[in-house]
Amino acid sequence: MESLFKSLEDEIVSGKDISVPEFLKTWLSKPKLNFIGNQLCESNSKKVFCNTNPATEEDLNWVVLSDKVDVEKAITVAREAFNKGDWAKLTQSQRAQVVKKLGDLILQHRAPLAILESLDTGKPIFETFEGDIPRAASNFHFFADFAKEEETLQFQNGLDEHQAFREPLGVVALITPWNLPLYLETWKIAPALMMGNSIVLKPSELTPLTACYFAELTLQAGLPPGVFNVIHGFGDKAAGEFLVSDPRIDAISFTGETSTGRAIMRSAAVGPTRVSFELGGKGATVIFEDADIEMAATETLRAGFRNQGQICLATPRVFVHESVYSKFKELFVEKAKQIKVGNPLNYSTRMGSLIGREHWEKVMSYVCRVEEPMKVLLGGDRPKEIKKGAFLGPTILENVPLDHKISREEIFGPVVSIYSFSDESAVVREINSTQYGLSASIWTRNTERAQRVARSIHAGLVWINCWFARDLRVPFGGQKRSGVGREGGKHSLDFFSEWKSVCLRRTQ
Ligand code: NAD
Repeated sequence: MESLFKSLEDEIVSGKDISVPEFLKTWLSKPKLNFIGNQLCESNSKKVFCNTNPATEEDLNWVVLSDKVDVEKAITVAREAFNKGDWAKLTQSQRAQVVKKLGDLILQHRAPLAILESLDTGKPIFETFEGDIPRAASNFHFFADFAKEEETLQFQNGLDEHQAFREPLGVVALITPWNLPLYLETWKIAPALMMGNSIVLKPSELTPLTACYFAELTLQAGLPPGVFNVIHGFGDKAAGEFLVSDPRIDAISFTGETSTGRAIMRSAAVGPTRVSFELGGKGATVIFEDADIEMAATETLRAGFRNQGQICLATPRVFVHESVYSKFKELFVEKAKQIKVGNPLNYSTRMGSLIGREHWEKVMSYVCRVEEPMKVLLGGDRPKEIKKGAFLGPTILENVPLDHKISREEIFGPVVSIYSFSDESAVVREINSTQYGLSASIWTRNTERAQRVARSIHAGLVWINCWFARDLRVPFGGQKRSGVGREGGKHSLDFFSEWKSVCLRRTQ
């Protein structure tokens, strides 16, 4: 297998259109099953649903459709595994060995995972191979090292010895979206495992593939049965909702739309169950007159169009100081024209298709609202040379009123509006005027101003002269309606564990 994967890696980076290798075709030809207690299981109802490739609109494979019985079974098995303690009672160092191995296995299987992720999402293989899959591996490597070093606290107070340490929570539910499937699943799985929990994961119904493939890797890593379980199916009034409404779940970590977060919070009231939510965003970039305009345009291009703009941290609103507006606009549109849109399975492609027809129609419903004096500077439709698939080229708008739906709602597609501004406090007010508060970027050479603006923007993440620069120790999450709680480093460990304090009073 090693030499097969190596030649597949070479083929990916060669720049040729790659075809799906035979072993993956065989893998795809079998229906994708739930993974419960280290076994692949059919669903109770025996029903399946079809998973399609959004770039070709062809059927990819069948996936089991889970119902309440399947969800209850997964939770029961996860609880039994937790109570048995084969994972929960290991030391951090023992768990770290297995968690690290999961990261190694992902790197070993980088090529097939990247191909599956591109087939399932329509995103370019350049992104899955160079970005998403290596990042999934580093989620395991990072948390294995980081959590291993977690301290036990000790305090002496007179005769009393106080000790505090972490304990696992129990069974945790992980619910994830389609835009960065394995990347975001592993971002939750790694700390949940390191803290000794048992997991029931429900991946997005639109992107089940890499979760299935990963489940098979957990067998090789040596996770005890029942510690990691995957159930497939839909969210609302289906597997997702059954999972988060079950009072035996000890915590819910969810990433997805703000409206789904509201629904899950209602379901979680049954516990009440601990929740962590990473929700929608409507990011903004502000470019001041003294910014490095060339660099700002290049990075804003990434921020606007990477993953077809389907990133919660994307920047659909770009505010440019009036004195450099024309220069920026020209550069930005020119650079956007150079983005290669096309076959996701070609390494030189930089934009693939959106997640599917339904989402394409949602994004287009915003673009179709453009009317005088608004202008489409670029894009606005499927590129002419592409005949089918959920493709939309980089789309740049101007003169969009700030109170327009396009300026205020999360579109989650490759649609960027540029606005001219003259006054610092007014632009900060505009940036802060949506219900979201996830991320923003500031471009200026004036560090004092950058720091001042960063503090006045209501967002959980602010980048100065960059975008999406990440350190996995840093708290990650949104303000306002963009989230509840924080992930990353210690924050993920806090969420997935319970601190216990023990006081010992020494007697003679
Ligand atoms: P979504 O909310 O539609 O679905 C996410 C997951 O929730 C899916 O697995 C779905 O089946 C499940 N679900 C749906 N209804 C449910 C319910 N009632 N109970 C339990 N589970 C339910 O989101 P999506 O369309 O998959 O993803 C796009 C959204 O995710 C965007 O809003 C984006 O901003 C957000 N997102 C946020 C972050 C972040 O870090 N803040 C990261 C990525 C994506």
